[in-house]
Amino acid sequence: MRATRALIHLGRLKSNIAAVRAQVGPNVKICVPIKADAYGHGAVRVAVAAIRAGAAYLAVASPQEGIELRESGIVAPILLLSLPIPEELPIILEHRITPLIADAEFAREVAVVARETFEATGEQTAVHLKIDTGMGRIGCEPEDAAELADIVNRMRELKIEGTATHLAVSDSLDADDIAYTEEQIRRFTEALESIRKAGIDPGIAHAANSGGVALHPASWFDMVRPGILVYGYPPAPELADRVIVQPVMELETRIVFLKKAQRGQSISYGRQWKAERETTIATLPVGYADGLPRRLTNNARVLIGDREYPIVGRICMDQCMADLGPESHAKRWDRAVIFGPDPRGPSAEDLARQLETIPYEITCGINRRVPRVYLDT
Ligand SMILES: *Cc1c(COP(=O)(O)O)cnc(C)c1O
Repeated sequence: MRATRALIHLGRLKSNIAAVRAQVGPNVKICVPIKADAYGHGAVRVAVAAIRAGAAYLAVASPQEGIELRESGIVAPILLLSLPIPEELPIILEHRITPLIADAEFAREVAVVARETFEATGEQTAVHLKIDTGMGRIGCEPEDAAELADIVNRMRELKIEGTATHLAVSDSLDADDIAYTEEQIRRFTEALESIRKAGIDPGIAHAANSGGVALHPASWFDMVRPGILVYGYPPAPELADRVIVQPVMELETRIVFLKKAQRGQSISYGRQWKAERETTIATLPVGYADGLPRRLTNNARVLIGDREYPIVGRICMDQCMADLGPESHAKRWDRAVIFGPDPRGPSAEDLARQLETIPYEITCGINRRVPRVYLDT
């Protein structure tokens, strides 16, 4: 057992999915993004818990992520959010991972690979059309959606199971951003209409990420794809009261060494921090190789018992030090929380704020050498 561990509170994951369910109502499907090893939480365990909590769909970013889920026995539909290269198509289809299609050329590539199965069994390969309504990443222009749908619809090997778009600023309360999101929703609605007018069923329509779930009911359509909300963080700090969720990941470690430092004594590489008075220093076996960014040096805190203490001196690759002050009662081997759901201590959002990033990057950055320990709480 390693001292530094990421506790994954699956009970909170389930209540976060329940909070999303309460927000969108009973008729909207929930697709849980499991990409990047479930935002660092561990893909397979999170996928199983998400399905038990009512997720209808899972989403991944790479074929390998989808294959990992399939090889663990997961049969739920899996959407591939990024466009693959043609060489990846055989393994994608073999594992029944649903690709997005954004143009006719790629549709033909998918159809060629799908042909063998279709001819042998008559089974069609499910695909989702992807429309770019303003994210500027992947997708066909909304005006071209009906034509693309028609091309795909004529391919006997393929079946349009859904139609998707992605929102660029759905997590912002800024008036221009709200107008931009509404315009994206309008364009998507028009594209769906044009597909229907061509006599084609666009299938499951989906657009909303966490920001859409929290702020834009018009973006919910038939399915939502909230990632960060399910992992327990609002998509932006201002949206904390829209859907109440709790962090799923808790990064904990233990005090492995305690010592007194004299006034003026320096701590860690570079000697940048010096004790201003006699104090107690705790050494923690967690560092930047575990995912505690070195740039947090002099800006991170740690929860020991019911109190927060500053991490002092440079964060090393595998260790860091905390200043417990002159009269701390902390003992060697005590538990120390780097971030977690406990409101008395730091959260991944606090760390993200210090680093001018988003909590996504903090949880995704927890290295694989940190064991994930799954709890029902
Ligand atoms: C990652 C991703 C999501 C989830 O985004 P959150 O901000 O975590 O809710 C939804 N849709 C697509 C296409 C994505 O790539």
